[in-house]
Amino acid sequence: MELGIAGRWALVCAASKGLGKGCAAALAREGVNLVVNARKLEVLEATAAQLRALHPAIEVRSVAGDISRDDVRQAALAAGPQIDILVNNAGGPPPGDFRDWSREDWLQAVEINMLTPIELIKATVDGMAARGFGRVVNITSAAVKAPIDILGLSNGARSGLTGFIAGLARQPHLAGRNVTINNLLPGAFDTDRLRQTLDAAARASAQSSTAIAEQRQRGIPAGRFGSADEFGAFCAFLCSAHAGYMTGQNLLLDGGHYPGTF
Ligand code: NAP
Repeated sequence: MELGIAGRWALVCAASKGLGKGCAAALAREGVNLVVNARKLEVLEATAAQLRALHPAIEVRSVAGDISRDDVRQAALAAGPQIDILVNNAGGPPPGDFRDWSREDWLQAVEINMLTPIELIKATVDGMAARGFGRVVNITSAAVKAPIDILGLSNGARSGLTGFIAGLARQPHLAGRNVTINNLLPGAFDTDRLRQTLDAAARASAQSSTAIAEQRQRGIPAGRFGSADEFGAFCAFLCSAHAGYMTGQNLLLDGGHYPGTF
């Protein structure tokens, strides 16, 4: 299927690895010009080179830095002529017990997983509406739908973003101008972050990380972890010209792990 977005400009945050990179790669294959961001310059530059090689006609510009910083966001927004597609992403907050989290820990989680995407949306959606096309995809987590006890910082901050998006996406000056905002909720995807979680679980138990990974995969009806490429392909469709009638939705990609009907 031709997605109808060749020549558009996308800002993909936290895109040097994992799910963000999967989204950037799928958009690149469709001929979308990219501004990509992540903190570590060398890894980001290597990813940008790989992305450029995916399509002969695209430009890929990289902006290194922590996307929760205002100056980095301003640089990312200024790196392309306009932002038609925004993919919000960043690292997730650390796991733990809520008794150990300080006010500062909460503020950091809210800053990175709620306020940062809201700032980027605020800076881009009115321009999208004026041009009559815009796609925003926020990478959140399956934990928004089925909270994970040790990920309380993530459950809380991402649910705040989700509530805000539910109201914003339905505003007629956006939805009525072909600007959609949707959230993608990853379950277990095979990325560095997942491997770190498995290694940490292995260290805390007598099992190897391979054994823990196999056990987790047996609990997923699909019998496996998702790949960043399939996550990216789904994201690219949401950003496509064909997806203008879907907005304000929370889309779970988890291989059937969530057991509910809705
Ligand atoms: P990953 O493989 O570790 O990749 C994270 C990417 O984000 C890297 O490119 C990293 O590069 C960048 N990054 C992290 N913090 C950043 C920041 N403050 N500013 C700019 N870039 C930043 O992680 P992932 O698995 O793709 O996860 C992406 C998001 O999905 C996370 O929020 C995670 O919690 C969520 N999620 C993932 C899964 C899963 O199974 N993988 C499940 C549920 C939710 P630098 O380190 O160089 O900045």
